[in-house]
Amino acid sequence: MNADIARQAHHLGSFSRPYCPRCGAILLIAEQSAFNLNGGIRHDWACDHCGEEFATSVRVLPPQA
Ligand SMILES: [Zn+2]
Repeated sequence: MNADIARQAHHLGSFSRPYCPRCGAILLIAEQSAFNLNGGIRHDWACDHCGEEFATSVRVLPPQA
């Protein structure tokens, strides 16, 4: 049970809460999110601490065969 919680927390940490590449602060809410045609979601982030802006991409659909 504890292992499941840890795994889920790790998943959430890597999936939707990136760390600022500049100052290391954890970011909680994406500024903007958008689907792309490749079956992924792009999240645009802006750090509240230092103002760094960056984007992450998450694939939500399996690659087309
Ligand atoms: Zn920052």
